[in-house]
Formats: sequence, structure tokens, C-alpha cells
Amino acid sequence: MKKKITIFGSTGSIGESTLDIIRQNPDKYEIIGLTANTNYKKLLEQVEHFNPKVVSINDNNAYIKFTDLNNNKKLRVLNGKNCHKEILDLNTDLVVAAITGSAGLMPVVSALEKGLSIALANKESLVCSGSLVTSIAKKNNAKILPVDSEHNAIYQVLDSKNKSKISRLILTASGGPFFNKDIKELDDILPEEAIKHPNWSMGKKISIDSATMMNKGLELIEAYYLFDISHKNIDVIIHPESIIHSCVEYMDGSMLSQMGTPDMRTPISYTLAYPERIKTNVKRLDLCEIKQLNFFKPDLKKYPSLRLAYEALEIGKSAPTILNAANEVAVESFLNQGIKFLSISKVVEKTLNKASFCNVNSIKDVIEIDKESRKLTLDIIKHGSY
Ligand code: MG
Repeated sequence: MKKKITIFGSTGSIGESTLDIIRQNPDKYEIIGLTANTNYKKLLEQVEHFNPKVVSINDNNAYIKFTDLNNNKKLRVLNGKNCHKEILDLNTDLVVAAITGSAGLMPVVSALEKGLSIALANKESLVCSGSLVTSIAKKNNAKILPVDSEHNAIYQVLDSKNKSKISRLILTASGGPFFNKDIKELDDILPEEAIKHPNWSMGKKISIDSATMMNKGLELIEAYYLFDISHKNIDVIIHPESIIHSCVEYMDGSMLSQMGTPDMRTPISYTLAYPERIKTNVKRLDLCEIKQLNFFKPDLKKYPSLRLAYEALEIGKSAPTILNAANEVAVESFLNQGIKFLSISKVVEKTLNKASFCNVNSIKDVIEIDKESRKLTLDIIKHGSY
């Protein structure tokens, strides 16, 4: 029996890597549904190769172009943001949640409510609504398999039955493209320099987040909810080679880690095959060739975003949701050259300082808080008051 897979966000970087693994294992997987935001050309190619039952395209114009060009008469083609429920009505074994940003939240919730296992690449669903999402998963007996390389590494070595024996989680960070630059050199950084990640090939938003280290801040929040461990027991260290993908330290002093060449296809394949493993053509790790691994403490003056993430967890309530919304707006503004690179974290900090915090009891709350925070951040950027 082939495993039935639906990918939300199939034309992005994670979606493509997922399909690459599935392409290598045609006897093991069958594609049920694919969704895209605007990239109808790539979706057409994917439909031709994988022959899904249903696709959805968010953008109206892209939907029209897709339906004009599509020759697959059996394919159901949906349009708009809220098609995920209709897609999930078809029988699926695993949902790959690869939509970036808060747009990816509702598809994750819908899948978990149906009790479906999720390969989770969308950071925001845990960052913005971590306790809600994990409790929906628990209630519906749905598994969340983390795709993010750090959490995937921890998932692989974490003995969940002996959680009380864990003393620390250590998230590793590459330090991004500016690790060797002095903070003084960062002010005039252009978007095209910031999106060039040294080790990982990723989307624009996450590449900027890696450069500011907000990515690690968001991952800290993810880990806090996903593994139910206090932020006081989660450390971040810089490991520029990105070979050790994260570690779990146990009370006896043992430290377990997962290693591998930095290639997202490894964690993705783990989630696709779980609890089995499948072959991939990912480059093997040659330790003798690497010879040396390095580790550094992050400089919180240079990377204030990481400090802000710890602070958001300390505040609790809606603070992580606000942090995430503010960061999305600030990164977008940086990409459009509206603010400077070092202003990203200043804008986020200002938003946190000005916001009031409330409890997050429903997804409706999350959406409302997200909307309000974005307004606040835009206002701060507009008035230059950061
Ligand atoms: Mg990561």
C-alpha cells in the first residue's frame, strides 16, 4: 500500500524537496493533493508528474492561467484560501504543511482536527499558537512530525517516554551569512546579500530570519511547545558548519545528537517514512573530510532577535504571536527596502514594547492578535518610531 500524501505549499522550497524524495520513491508514495499560492507554472509541472486528485491555487489570476493550461480533465482545481478542508475530505495518510507564514496556520489546524499526521514545516503554527495546536493534536491523537532540521534532529534522539530524564535541549544555529561580519558592517546590508545563506538553500523570508537569527528565536519557541520543555532549559549555540542539527542532554551527562549534511531532504524523508526510514540520494557525511566542527556562544548584541524570542516566552500569553507578526512585517519591509537590516529587530522590539498581551484561547484569537500586531508594526515603520 502506498502512503497517501497531501502537500500544502508544494511549489515552495520544502514542497519541492518533498516531491523530490517522492520522485525517488514512486513505489512508496501517492500524491493526493497539492496547493500553491501563485506559481501556477510549477504546479502544472507537478500535476503532470505526480497526477494528484486535487489542487488548489490561492491567487485568482494564477488560478485562471492554470485552468487555461491544464489538460488533466480528471483533476479537481480549487481556488482561494479556504480549500484545505475540501482537500482533506479526500483520504490522506500524511499532510506536509509547507506553507510559510501565518497563512499556513488554518490548514495545519484542519488536518490535526481530522486526526491526520502532519509533517510540519510551517513554523508559525507553533510559534503563534503553540499551546492550541499541540492540544488539538493531543485531543485528536494526531502526530506532529517536525520537518525543521533542528526539531527533527531532537525528535530523532528524544526519548519521549523518559522526559523527566532530559536536562537540556541544544538548538544549533549556523549564524547565517553575517556570522563573520562585525555589527557595524550590518547596517547597509542589502536584501540580496541577506538572502544568501551559507549552508542551506531556503526561501527568502527564512533566509532573512537566519541572517538576523530570528529564525533561531522562532525555533526556540517551536521547541518550547513541541517538546514541552521550559525555555530556561533550551540553549542556542552557533555551529557554522550545520552538521550537528541539534542535541538532547540527559541527566546522566549523555548528549545525543543527529548529524548529517545540511540538506532538508534528510529531515523531510524522516517525516515521510516515519516510523520507518527510506533511502535518499542525499550526500553522505564524510567526517574525515570535514575534520573539524566549531561552536560559539551567540552574541545577543549582534543578534537581538534571539533575545526577543526568549523574552516573548518569558512574557507568555500572546507575546510569541505578536513577535512573529511584527517580524513578518519588518522582514517584508526590509525586502522592499523600506527599513534597514538592523532595524528589523528594532521594529520587532518596539512592537513588543507597545503591545498589550492577552490570553490566546482560540484560533480566532490568534488571527485577531496577528492582525492587530501587523497594524501596530506597520504604524511603527510608517512613523519611523523605532
Ligand atoms: Mg531550522
